[in-house]
Amino acid sequence: MTIRNNWTREEIAEIYNRPVLSLIYEAATIHRAYHDPQEVQVCTLLSVKTGGCPEDCSYCPQAARYHTNVKVERLMDVSEVLERATEAKDSGSTRFCMGAAWREVRDNRDFDKVIDMVKGVSAMGMEVCCTLGMLTPAQALKLKDAGLYAYNHNLDTSEEYYNDIITTRTYGDRLETLESVRNAKISVCSGGIIGMGENENDRIGMLRVLATLPEHPESVPVNALVPVPGTPLEDQPRVSVWEMVRMIATARIIMPRTMVRLSAGRVRMNLEEQALCFMAGANSIFAGDKLLTTPNPGGLRDQEMFQVLELHPRPAHKK
Ligand code: SF4
Repeated sequence: MTIRNNWTREEIAEIYNRPVLSLIYEAATIHRAYHDPQEVQVCTLLSVKTGGCPEDCSYCPQAARYHTNVKVERLMDVSEVLERATEAKDSGSTRFCMGAAWREVRDNRDFDKVIDMVKGVSAMGMEVCCTLGMLTPAQALKLKDAGLYAYNHNLDTSEEYYNDIITTRTYGDRLETLESVRNAKISVCSGGIIGMGENENDRIGMLRVLATLPEHPESVPVNALVPVPGTPLEDQPRVSVWEMVRMIATARIIMPRTMVRLSAGRVRMNLEEQALCFMAGANSIFAGDKLLTTPNPGGLRDQEMFQVLELHPRPAHKK
């Protein structure tokens, strides 16, 4: 199967709406052609600067304007971050992602500290990823020079639904940041969230944007909304596992080489539901009991899952 960047909405909709068992079967077949199905990337995500964000992302407890129980914390010290990265490595993570609740990167002392964090984690042999908001081409190059392996910047949803979720920056801004990352030869991580009140066309629309970028993102996180009290989306109903499976399987079929990450919302899934997601082509997870500020299954539950499903972690820097 060739890698395509010219998917139409209709083609993706046809895949997304197939009978779910056939959809899983096809995704599993493609998954086996491109990946070791027993191998799952294990990433740790650490919030290095929490809360107080000026943006208005409706799902996010870190936005300063919402009254949530997130405590604002300033940028962590480099030494503390490196300790946490060492713990993550010792417990089996091969990718370490650092998130800062910023609208955009500013060229100041905090950015210099992040550069030192990137250098330190990179020297440990882990894949280093950051998610710091919008990025200019020059900042992307600086991060690349420091050893940054990947940059996360999610599209969140379709272009059509985007303004219902965020008004403080545009879809175009997001795409520009992704372009800066790509041009700096940093691996691109970009996906979205389902369960925010969008319809299936929006989900398909978001997948189409990702699958028609000049190069597919190397990593696509698929998140299920974890509604947080105090945010505008606090009362959203839970998405079903079948909706997650459809998203993951469709992403796997249209972007065969990409690592598809089963991300937020995993805490609400039992082992069987997660196994379905792996069957549908997911091959990356976040480890640790927190995803930035929301809960995530702890290490013990994951160890048990890896044993039962006979999974093994993907080594860092594997091509
Ligand atoms: S998702 Fe990121 S940019 Fe949006 S409010 Fe939260 S921390 Fe800020």
